[in-house]
Amino acid sequence: MNRSEPPSAIKRLGQNFLIDPNIVRKILAAAELSAHDSVLEIGPGRGILTESLCHTSGRVTAIEIDPRLHTYLLERHAGVPNLTLVLGDAMTYPLESLPIGTVVVANLPYYISTPLLFRLLDHRDRFPRLVLMLQDEVADRLIAKPGSRDYGVLSVLAQYVADTAKAFKVSANCFRPRPEVGSAVVVLRIKKERELSPEDEPALTQLVKAAFAHRRKTLVNSLRDEGYDPQSALGVLRTLELAPTIRAETLPVSQFITLSRRVRLPHCHPE
Ligand code: SAM
Repeated sequence: MNRSEPPSAIKRLGQNFLIDPNIVRKILAAAELSAHDSVLEIGPGRGILTESLCHTSGRVTAIEIDPRLHTYLLERHAGVPNLTLVLGDAMTYPLESLPIGTVVVANLPYYISTPLLFRLLDHRDRFPRLVLMLQDEVADRLIAKPGSRDYGVLSVLAQYVADTAKAFKVSANCFRPRPEVGSAVVVLRIKKERELSPEDEPALTQLVKAAFAHRRKTLVNSLRDEGYDPQSALGVLRTLELAPTIRAETLPVSQFITLSRRVRLPHCHPE
């Protein structure tokens, strides 16, 4: 049978195709899939991962935004019974239509890796784990600990919902075309129990973003500039035995949780 040539890469869609089968094996090992698992793949591209995912799991849904690649995959994977190829944008695809327990395995398009990550984390109750290739610099932010240069909004919010680990780094030589940045595979295991109720979680997100909004300022001043009551923030810092001049980048996730429970936006509490 004649097979068509794979479409050429479009840079603006983050098309850096994996070409190293050894990396595919390592991603699959990190994903720990079984024949009962449903998998979501974002951006199957030319299908190097997709094929192996279909062999090692029960069902694969692969969402590709590029119609050329979608058509290429439809032809190449015609007759694979456990694969659903979707032509669409992963930023708008209804993730709630996927079965609960779906494992996400993807070599993400880097130009939207952070918003995609936040979107996946917003649907965390559906995904027990996410195994993602992304920029090494984003991987470092996901695993960063308080006090490190990389620690910020992404670190706190991801580590609140998941245990995060960098599985391995991937050289730019493993892709065609070569990406301009280093890559790494991360594993995010979603926590079964979280400290806040779902109703209180938006307050944590809002507070963490406000805390890091002005990185050169103290935590209290950054919160004040974002509309929080500085006196109540100072009161919480006192009870935590923290200096009033502390900066957001030194606070562990547990202390952000305490702050979000006790420091309210003034307009939330009209007195
Ligand atoms: N999985 C393939 C591999 O490992 O070789 C391709 C990975 S490539 C880094 C990212 C893929 O995501 C490309 O195929 C690109 O067309 C696709 N993509 C880009 N933006 C997307 C979006 N918003 N929704 C779904 N797919 C997208």
